[in-house]
Order: sequence, then structure tokens, then C-alpha cells
Amino acid sequence: DLVQMRIFRQAEELQRFALETRRAGKRIALVPTMGFLHAGHASLIDIARGRADVVIVSIFVNPTQFGPGEDLDKYPRDFEHDRLVCAEHGADVIFAPEPGAMYAPDASTWVEETMLSRPLCGARRPGHFRGVTTVVTKLFHLALPDVAVFGRKDAQQLLVIKRMVRDLNFPIEIVAAPLVRGADGLALSSRNRYLSDEEHQQALVLSRALRAAKPALEEAGLEGAPAVVSAVRHEIEAAGGRVDYVELLDVETLENPTAETKEALFALAAYFGSTRLIDNELIQVKK
Ligand code: AMP
Repeated sequence: DLVQMRIFRQAEELQRFALETRRAGKRIALVPTMGFLHAGHASLIDIARGRADVVIVSIFVNPTQFGPGEDLDKYPRDFEHDRLVCAEHGADVIFAPEPGAMYAPDASTWVEETMLSRPLCGARRPGHFRGVTTVVTKLFHLALPDVAVFGRKDAQQLLVIKRMVRDLNFPIEIVAAPLVRGADGLALSSRNRYLSDEEHQQALVLSRALRAAKPALEEAGLEGAPAVVSAVRHEIEAAGGRVDYVELLDVETLENPTAETKEALFALAAYFGSTRLIDNELIQVKK
């Protein structure tokens, strides 16, 4: 509860706490977030709660994963609300550092995944995944988790983190949490806050189109896929969105599907007004 939950602002405080927790033989789960918590984040905290003795939620709007001209300065924040969500879902610790507590002014070391980071959001947001892998590495070194929970909402991010953990031998289990949608189908996102009522209505096309495309793609097989993909693109544009990408990629490689592909990621990004939203579905490829 609120009284027992601890809030750390300094990296050293969190790392000292994590070392002591581990020495006491307790399992730690980490849920990294940028705050402005919603039911999607809460579901990650619930999953973490079921898998560890101590649950740490980090709330950090990480400047290094935002490009010039992106929404770093206006990214929504509400620490009091976040604190309540964390307490209600049984978190033990909130780690909420200021950027200056995370990055030395002359920080010059990066962690970079170089394959899965390339397409989709990586192509449109240069440096984004390098910022993510670097901050997640730092959070791992500070929170020393046995397990860390990431949402399928950010499907490419999840794949990149899993690859980093494998490639760099982090002794951490990565758990994938299901994508949580609102009652109207829109994937929950802190950025939904930017949408006007009209844009919100327009944005429902993303989940609607995905829901229809999933069985169509699973029926159509790879030969039929391009027609479905281009229909989705047109549906988004017709609803008033501006498509950033609509792509079907092999989920292992994030390259074009081949005869070997068993599962594919159908990933969308589109602007409604100036707000960029993403959504996705996993597609089982018919053999
Ligand atoms: P963010 O605060 O947007 O950086 O997200 C923090 C974590 O919550 C990431 O692992 C996201 O994938 C996850 N997340 C965000 N929105 C959702 C959602 N609607 N469903 C499931 N997980 C989510």
C-alpha cells in the first residue's frame, strides 16, 4: 500500500536497495515505463507481482529515445496518479529519476542492437531503439531484476530487448505481456491523451482494420498478403489517418516473410493529427 511503497529518485539508492534485496534471497521483477500509467501498464505490474517477491516500477521519460522534433517536452506526466496505480497493483518500489540522475552530462556509452532495430519504428525514428536499449540496460544494472515485463503493444521493442538480453547474456527473464485495448478497441497508450475526440474516433480504424486483417491474412497465406496489406493502408487513409507504415514481417527476423516463416508481425503506425500511434497483431502463417 501507499505507506509501504518506496520511492527512489537516485540511481545509487535503487541499486543499493536491489543489492540488499538480492542478498536477502528475494526475487526482483522490473516494469520499465514512461509513466502516465493506464490499464496496460497496470497489467504488466500484475504480471510482475505474480512472478517476484519485490516489484519495481520505473517511471522515466527517457530523453535519449526521443528524436529532435518528437514529443519529449510535452509527453504527459502525472506522478500522483502513477503512484496510486502502482500502490493499487502492489508495487513495492517506484524508481522515478530526473534525467540528470540517469545520464552524466558527458555520457558517451551506448548499447545498440543492429538488426531488429532497423525496420518499422527504427527506420522512422533514427536512434530511438539505441536510446531504449541503453536505458533498459541501465535500469537492469540498477534494479538487478530476475524478471522484466514488457508489453506486446510495443512489439518491435520487445523483440529488440529479447535479442539484446540474449546477445549480451543478461541473466534476466523477459516476459511478454498481452496488448491491452480500451472498450472501443483502441490500444491503450499514454499518447492517446493527445487525441481530440474526432481523432480518437478516427484512430479506431487501426484496431478495426487489424481485427479484420488477421483472419484474412491467416486465410490468404503469403501470396494473398500484399492485397490485404494495401487494403489496410487504404482503410487507414480513408478514415483520416496518415499512414507511417503498414507491414507484414517475419517475427523472428523482421524481414520480409519467406517460405520458412511460421509467424509474422503485422505492424501499423499512423498519424491522427500530429499524434503518431502504433498497433500490431501476430499472424500465424498458413503452410
Ligand atoms: P511506455 O510507458 O509507453 O513506454 O510503456 C511501458 C511498457 O508498458 C512497455 O513495455 C509497453 O509495451 C507497455 N505497454 C504500454 N501500453 C500497453 C498496452 N496497451 N498493453 C500492454 N502493454 C502496454
